[in-house]
Amino acid sequence: MPGNKDKASAQRPQALTKKRLRWLILLSSFPLFGMMAAFGIAPNTSLEEVPVQQVVLGLELPEIQLDSSADMTFWRQERIQRGDTLATLLSRLDVDNQEALTFMRDARDMKAIHQLVAGKTIHVQTTAAGELLLLRYFPGGSEQMVVEKTNGSFKVSEKPAQLETHIQMKSGVINTSLFAAIDNAGVPESVATQIVDILASEIDFHRDLRKGDRFTVVYDSLYGNGEPARAGRVLAVEFVNQGTPYRGLYFEVNGESGYYTPDGKSLKKAFLRSPLEFSRISSGFSAGRFHPVLKTWRAHKGIDYAAPTGTGVKAAADGTVAFVGSQGGYGNVIFLDHQGSYSTVYGHLSAFAKGLRKGQRVRQGDIIGRVGATGMATGPHLHYEFRFKNVQRDPLKVAMPTADPVPPKHMAGFYEYTKSSMARLDMLRGTSLAFLD
Ligand SMILES: [Zn+2]
Repeated sequence: MPGNKDKASAQRPQALTKKRLRWLILLSSFPLFGMMAAFGIAPNTSLEEVPVQQVVLGLELPEIQLDSSADMTFWRQERIQRGDTLATLLSRLDVDNQEALTFMRDARDMKAIHQLVAGKTIHVQTTAAGELLLLRYFPGGSEQMVVEKTNGSFKVSEKPAQLETHIQMKSGVINTSLFAAIDNAGVPESVATQIVDILASEIDFHRDLRKGDRFTVVYDSLYGNGEPARAGRVLAVEFVNQGTPYRGLYFEVNGESGYYTPDGKSLKKAFLRSPLEFSRISSGFSAGRFHPVLKTWRAHKGIDYAAPTGTGVKAAADGTVAFVGSQGGYGNVIFLDHQGSYSTVYGHLSAFAKGLRKGQRVRQGDIIGRVGATGMATGPHLHYEFRFKNVQRDPLKVAMPTADPVPPKHMAGFYEYTKSSMARLDMLRGTSLAFLD
């Protein structure tokens, strides 16, 4: 559409900002229809100005073309409101296309769209200039109505409403807690849990988080009947912790999936940074009502994690149970032996994992016990020790062995696969999407 280029770049930014906070902007390709979409925010638009609440991008894209507004298409969705007409609805969807409106008004076989049902969803794909390319209406049931422009004219058809995968991007800033930020950004809890797990060897989410930390996450999401059905896998995440950015990128090598740094190093380390299960409840705990006597590591030879009684305690690494039971000031305690003369200690527990016994093998991340206040403890917390040759060490000061990096012969494939995710993280960095609610 070369003729639209000037119009597009001149008008689109205004049109976008005008529609402040009103809709979900879907910038996407729907693989189902084989459509291609370039990233849809026109150049010269300050990203801060763009009222994007939710950005959905197709990962099929070979590249994000920030400099080509002519080929941009925009996906948007609107919920039908009581009293909506086709004209008001299309106007809210920023469809500026009399021909499309006339076609839909006149088409006989479009009964469904003449009886707009409040609460149902309409998705449209338009050019940057607001010309309709595709409209999808999900009136309910298993059908969707599709209006499509092909070879210059509109056609209407009914198709089964299938599950589709959309790529979602969300970004947030931490002001009070990670979960508050996650809720503000509209990130599902299952995605939040994945973020914490992916970066568990880099960031101690119980102790390291600071106000102003930021995250950006790219994940896939299943849609059925035009509505989000469930969130799927995290494809890429960036977490800026105390000014340091950490990135995790999903990749499969030889059938094994994992998360890697942008240069292909595995994020799976031999030891987790925190052995405490991260949850909505435990995350804000130490900053809230309970203040345990926190001693410095030097005096204490361990790390205390304040957490509610019952919070899960994870094995920090693969290992073998060396001791499980009660022992002096530790109260109920578990000792794990790991490879390479490492061991870990988990004290003051209220409970052990069912059937846990000496000699049992555990995997990293297994819940081996529950936080409590047994032994010499002033309140519920986990006392965690990390030892090398049975001498307590500060785990932060020990370089941990990691899983294998992406093999050299797969590096080209890795860069290719992660390119678009990286571009998306770059793009969202520094934007304030999560401030918009
Ligand atoms: Zn302690």
